[in-house]
Amino acid sequence: MQVERGQARLPGFEVEEVGESFVTAVVFESCGDIYRRVFRALRPRTPVPEVSIEYCRFAGANSFVRWHNSRLELRITDVLEGAPAPIQEALAYILLSKLLRRPVPPVYRHRYRLYLNRQDMRRSLHLLRQARGRKHISGPEGERFNLKELFAELNARFFHGLLAEPELGWSRTASRTLLGHFDPAHNAIILSKLLDSAPATRLAVEYVLYHEMLHLRYPVETAGAKRRVHTKEFKAAEKLFPGLKEAKAQLESLCTAARRR
Ligand SMILES: [Zn+2]
Repeated sequence: MQVERGQARLPGFEVEEVGESFVTAVVFESCGDIYRRVFRALRPRTPVPEVSIEYCRFAGANSFVRWHNSRLELRITDVLEGAPAPIQEALAYILLSKLLRRPVPPVYRHRYRLYLNRQDMRRSLHLLRQARGRKHISGPEGERFNLKELFAELNARFFHGLLAEPELGWSRTASRTLLGHFDPAHNAIILSKLLDSAPATRLAVEYVLYHEMLHLRYPVETAGAKRRVHTKEFKAAEKLFPGLKEAKAQLESLCTAARRR
């Protein structure tokens, strides 16, 4: 849905509902007004750009902003389409601060988090991730390889059988850029269908699956604002995979061949 300048007034809000005090003016602002006001506050000397807002059916609570043809383009999760103005304002501060490479004022980050952490919001986000995120997965039994069997075998060989089996599946499309990924929201490992098709070898599939299993074993490390996905322990464990070099070489030629098709 495209929101035009000045249209789509937001509903009023109950101050008690959010538990903070606000400038009453925000009640009468459209979403576009809010972004323009926040932009002015952050960059008082820059002329306020045109703002376009689109609500998108994302699988989560993420929203995005970018410059495009000197316009400010916002793509906001439709979960927030009916959110009260103070929440829209908080999101505006978060997105525009990031775009302008400034620290996000803690008060807005806090307000936004409080809202998303409300039980009803958490519940609808959870349902949303399940309903929308799951569509790209088909079952573990491929045409050539069965991921359940491969998982059990690798689990026994490298993890003493201690890893709990997540949901396993093949992607619907044969991606050559994303060969596999671990999705914590669904506790699922998804491998590209490309690996289930003709020239892919069992070694290559096993290596990609092993890599994703290591994500189960070694969770993402966070320190302050930093995130480390492939930790030192992760990398050390990955080197233990026999035929690692051969597997990587095979994957490279598999992806190159797929590109030429
Ligand atoms: Zn990885």
